[in-house]
Amino acid sequence: MARGKSDDLLAEYKAKRDFAKTPEPKAVPARKKGNSFVIQKHAARRTHFDFRLEHDGVLKSWAVTKGPSLDPAQKRLAVRTEDHPLEYGGFEGVIPKGEYGGGPVMIWDRGTWEPIGDPDEGLAKGDFKFTLHGNRLNGDYVLVRMKKDKTGGKRENWLLIKKRDEHAEEGGEPTEQHMTSVKSGLSMEEIETGDVPVWSSNAQKKTPPSGSISGAARKRKPAAR
Ligand code: MN
Repeated sequence: MARGKSDDLLAEYKAKRDFAKTPEPKAVPARKKGNSFVIQKHAARRTHFDFRLEHDGVLKSWAVTKGPSLDPAQKRLAVRTEDHPLEYGGFEGVIPKGEYGGGPVMIWDRGTWEPIGDPDEGLAKGDFKFTLHGNRLNGDYVLVRMKKDKTGGKRENWLLIKKRDEHAEEGGEPTEQHMTSVKSGLSMEEIETGDVPVWSSNAQKKTPPSGSISGAARKRKPAAR
């Protein structure tokens, strides 16, 4: 089988993980073309929000330290991370302690996105504009790449900024407002304690519509919202 472009894009993702130990999806490139996005709340050493946009058959990824804001005055540090396989957008569960990124992962938001202008040019120039159509995040955003500092580190720092539109809101902090999974309704604690359906790529197709509560969540008392 010919190795496609997205196969190479996933080399770093693959190198960082031991798939015998982590339940995360394997580095399988996608054939389909789509425009999904996902934001995963990830309680690793520090809790952050992994922002991922489907492009070129993979998920282009940034770790947003404080999470996205609805306030155009807030510029949120977004550290570029390795491209992730498309399947990762369905991953909610626990990465074992001691493994890369060990800790619970929650699907905090998901939906579709569309570029404003040419996305490849935007990514290359470090001025990447797009519109989100999610459950919790909507409207126009921009990711702006910052100049490298003098230490010359490998880290690529970007800023995630809400553009002014009808979805902008002064002081709006959706990550403080929404504490549960948009997929399962579970809290981080519930995901961490393991009362969550085991994730598999097949189960993804049977996922109930967003907003509905999974079997595991229904058995428990409703999570605080
Ligand atoms: Mn992460």
